[in-house]
Amino acid sequence: MALKYFANILFLPPMSLDIGELAALAQAKTQLASVWVLNYYHTHSTYELARDLIILSYVLGWLTNILRLTYAYGLWRSIKNLYRYTAKRFYKKTLELPFLKKKVASEVDHAKHELEKSLIVKAKTSFNEVPEFGLTEKEVFQKLEDLNNIAAANWKGGKLSGAVYHGGDELIDLQSKAYHKFAVANQLHPDAFPGVRQMEAEVVSMVLKLFNAPSTGCGTTTSGGTESLLLACLAAREKARHERGLSEFEIIAPKTVHAAIFKAALYFKMKLHLVDLDENYIGNITQVKRLINRNTCLLIGSAPNFPHGLVDNIEELSKLAVKHNIPLHVDCCLGSFVIAYYEKAFQSSLKPFDFRLPGVTSISCDTHKYGFAPKGSSIIMYRSNEYRKYQYFVSTEWVGGLYGSPTLAGSRPGALTVGAWATMVYMGDDGYTRACQDIILTARRLRQTVDEEIPELEIIGDPQLSVVSFKSSKLNIHKLGDRLGKDGWHLSALQDPPALHLAVTKLTVPAIDRLLEDLKVAVKEVSLEDNTTTSDTAQLYGVANSLQTGSVADKLITCFLDTLYKTEPST
Ligand SMILES: *Cc1c(COP(=O)(O)O)cnc(C)c1O
Repeated sequence: MALKYFANILFLPPMSLDIGELAALAQAKTQLASVWVLNYYHTHSTYELARDLIILSYVLGWLTNILRLTYAYGLWRSIKNLYRYTAKRFYKKTLELPFLKKKVASEVDHAKHELEKSLIVKAKTSFNEVPEFGLTEKEVFQKLEDLNNIAAANWKGGKLSGAVYHGGDELIDLQSKAYHKFAVANQLHPDAFPGVRQMEAEVVSMVLKLFNAPSTGCGTTTSGGTESLLLACLAAREKARHERGLSEFEIIAPKTVHAAIFKAALYFKMKLHLVDLDENYIGNITQVKRLINRNTCLLIGSAPNFPHGLVDNIEELSKLAVKHNIPLHVDCCLGSFVIAYYEKAFQSSLKPFDFRLPGVTSISCDTHKYGFAPKGSSIIMYRSNEYRKYQYFVSTEWVGGLYGSPTLAGSRPGALTVGAWATMVYMGDDGYTRACQDIILTARRLRQTVDEEIPELEIIGDPQLSVVSFKSSKLNIHKLGDRLGKDGWHLSALQDPPALHLAVTKLTVPAIDRLLEDLKVAVKEVSLEDNTTTSDTAQLYGVANSLQTGSVADKLITCFLDTLYKTEPST
């Protein structure tokens, strides 16, 4: 019966039917359907009806989801996604078969030993346990000297992408003294450290001004960009839960969004929809539009993103946010004070990205990047307390007393906020404007030289800020990265597409000529090598990107993390 009914619906009527005949056919079909439903109703028990309704709503839910995603990503991309997803799971299972599992384990074990060899580089000094008798101050500093002298990536020479954003002796000195003054401060106890409370409020206020927050603007300090992003997602989720009664939460963000958003989605059980890039390598707005639905509780754009240093189309995202009344977070963790001072430094404006756009409801800014504050310092800002209040943790029931905490941590190192405050008032508008000019001009030189003098490399998109990324269709870019490593340069490796990037810092400014020379030489050398030779990074990314071996890369990353906590290499 059911089969006949569906067959009737599915098969198209012959073309020759006129309107009257079509109407009759439609009526017949409707009749058939109602007969079928009534029939079903009378021949099944209440239990069966309830069961089938639940199954039906489940299936319909799934179907709607599939249709929605296919609509958003397009048919071709959806099929590709499905294929990649199934193939990955299939190969992951295959690698767990007994005979392959052993082989994988031995490969991973080999990689582990290599990792340990390169990471566990020890000084003469070593304490695996608390020493029985305390050392004298002089001895402690001798040990610290030993530990500081281990050969490492040369950040002082500006050879490291990002990582250390300032590194000037004067500032390090200032920060250490500021830390010293407030070494025991804890923001959990504002009564004991009122000065720290004031400085924290002022740091947030200063940064709000830089991002053109309205008078209702507010925020908190955090331990870093990751915590700022976690809080932005948490606040959006709690807002949607309380105000819209949602129980499922979806985030929409370009695929170039920082990994901390993946982390937030995992920690807070939110679903993250990754948007493909358009021809300019920024988030495809049409896809964002199509992915928005009633569970969407946050849109995200980056200004700029980490991989390519490109600014998403925040104006369009803002329009969508306003239209659908959804919060929009702009990740300026990396943009930091470089994007904030751009207008002052160059007397020309970027496309709007901050609170001046009405849809932008929160912004994260890492003061420990281009704000040059000590590491462990970032700001999460909101348009008003109607957003911020949802990141707070409040408990009135704890046996330990009434408890409230504004961020993820409980106790917080007040001295770090003091370090940020001291740095900002020491630098001033003038200091930051000059730093912005130096950094941006250096990034432009890198971009221009690659564009004009190194035809083997291709700049990704139109980077306006401090990060420049490039790929190549002529040589293996990760091999190039490893080759530059021999000259001491540490550029970041990217994937999809394979590329390298450099985040220019104050330390890169005096080193840029040297980098450009070394880059040209390295490109020539790698181009001449034949394609069969490979390198560590090229191999690693090869493993990670292959459907067959992708799951092995997970294991390698876990090994890497394990190694961080080893005092001795494994035997
Ligand atoms: C650095 C960065 C972050 C946060 O990183 P942390 O290491 O946690 O400070 C977030 N977004 C972007 C774009 C970044 O570059």
